[in-house]
Amino acid sequence: MTQVPCPTCRGPSSLNRTNRWRPFCSERCRLVDLDGWLAERFVIAGEDAQDDASTDAEEAEQERADDA
Ligand SMILES: [Zn+2]
Repeated sequence: MTQVPCPTCRGPSSLNRTNRWRPFCSERCRLVDLDGWLAERFVIAGEDAQDDASTDAEEAEQERADDA
């Protein structure tokens, strides 16, 4: 049975196919790593969302100006 250090907790993790969370040792460690990855992606997406929000606000102001 091949064992590697779990990327999250550095504990022993099995690469055996019976370990569905490989290369992590458990579902929790796998989710922790995924959360970190998504958090980084979320920061980038959040910046994009802010840009979209400001653009929408500017467009809304222009629409109000057209009405007046
Ligand atoms: Zn682990």
